[in-house]
Amino acid sequence: MTTTRTTALIVGAGFGGIAMAIELRRAGIHDFVVLEKADDLGGVWRENTYPGSGCDVPSPLYSFSYARNLTWPRRYAGQRDIHAYVARTARRFGVLSHIRFGQEVTSAEFDESTAEWLVRTTDGTEFSARAFIPATGQLSRPAFPSIPGLESFGGTSFHSAEWDHDAELEGKRIAVIGTGASAIQFVPEIQPGARRLTVFQRSAQYILPKRDHAYKPWHQKAFRALPILQTLDRLGFWLYAEFAQQCLSKWRFFTPLFQRQTSRHLREKVTDPGLRYRLTPDYALGCKRVLFSNDYLPAVTKSNVDLMTDEITEVTPKGVRTADGTHHDADVLIYGTGFAALDLLAPMKIHGLDGRGLEQTWSEGARAHLGITVPGFPNLFLIYGPNTNLGGGSIIYMLESQARYVRDAVRILAEHPRRWLDVRPAAERDWDVEVQTRLARSVWTRCDSWYRNEHGRVVANWPGRTHEYRRRTRRVDLADFRVGAAG
Ligand code: NAP
Repeated sequence: MTTTRTTALIVGAGFGGIAMAIELRRAGIHDFVVLEKADDLGGVWRENTYPGSGCDVPSPLYSFSYARNLTWPRRYAGQRDIHAYVARTARRFGVLSHIRFGQEVTSAEFDESTAEWLVRTTDGTEFSARAFIPATGQLSRPAFPSIPGLESFGGTSFHSAEWDHDAELEGKRIAVIGTGASAIQFVPEIQPGARRLTVFQRSAQYILPKRDHAYKPWHQKAFRALPILQTLDRLGFWLYAEFAQQCLSKWRFFTPLFQRQTSRHLREKVTDPGLRYRLTPDYALGCKRVLFSNDYLPAVTKSNVDLMTDEITEVTPKGVRTADGTHHDADVLIYGTGFAALDLLAPMKIHGLDGRGLEQTWSEGARAHLGITVPGFPNLFLIYGPNTNLGGGSIIYMLESQARYVRDAVRILAEHPRRWLDVRPAAERDWDVEVQTRLARSVWTRCDSWYRNEHGRVVANWPGRTHEYRRRTRRVDLADFRVGAAG
């Protein structure tokens, strides 16, 4: 078997991998490969095709700064339009020819003698690369709850991220487990056709109205004639998102402002006091992701919907049983139970210097300098790594920051053959202490969520504004690295 040699190997062709690939091409670096396990690009926007799937970050902000889309059909674009946008942008920047589809990475090992990563995929294909750049995201692997009897269910069942479009939902008794960002988008879509829809809620959500509207032809004409108008639109959303992110991490005294809006929204949409009570969160606002929706709360008030808040004790062949002993019959069971977000880079087996495994290194939770580099793993650069997720705002802004930083590193490596860059443990430790100290003051330590692992460590989120992150990742500071040589 021959080994394909390349300067940089990117894993994943979602927004993160595409951002990285574009950045390399824009810097004139064309010797790179993107490995994608599926047969299409788009990452979460390829996978999440459930009814109502879309982004609750306004599209002028949820797009690349250098690839504006002046013809978004609406302020909050749907999955198809976002998927089409990322595909179009990848094509426009010449990235498609670099992508190898149907290639799932199983392992990567750093070879000190050559200063290269040896990367293998499921079909045995081998690549060697100076820089190894996983961009597999935090939300790519669906998570199922550990409830007894899950396998015994006799009807149709699927996860929201693996929507079964052939499943008959019309006139069926449907059970939905979970009420996160995904469920609140698909529940209003499937509610009208369901005979009975039972929504199992473990935690109530803070929900803000979604100020959505279609961009009319005159909007698009105006954006085309004067792109600055869309730039201003983007700037406005960005400033709002920076403010929100700051409120969640630092300026907690502003949260009553948002709390009043969520309470008003709930009062307006739900008149039944009992139901309203069950839909009222009992944790600090922002600790779990604040959601945006105009149609979820009205949907759960409908006569064919039951909102269950008792704990689920088992799944049976015919439905779901709750702690009060009630059996809820169901023909279809839909898991809106989120993703295995905290096992970053799993199931890939990654080994760095002296054969050390990344899994062991991260036994207390994933951590990385700037969310990008890990001591002992030279020339490994993470896109959307630990502590780079946002409680509010556009992740694409963060991905662009990382892609620029890593492009800088790849250029340094390309200019210095047979060298490797290993982040100094002290640099990583200082970063981690700072990030975790700031996170300890944030709202995210005040409840359980996918942001936090079983040790209580916030692994997902960045505690500052996106602007600060951009500043701190502006360029590679070689003082943060040990420079090694092959051999
Ligand atoms: P999620 O936010 O993690 O929500 C999972 C839901 O399942 C929660 O309500 C959770 O309850 C519930 N759950 C998990 N295990 C359970 C169990 N054993 N019993 C009962 N309930 C259980 O997942 P998601 O809705 O798929 O969203 C994940 C992330 O994807 C979001 O936070 C967001 O970052 C992204 N997303 C974004 C958009 C967008 O518009 N931008 C849309 C969809 C998704 P608890 O809250 O009690 O844990």
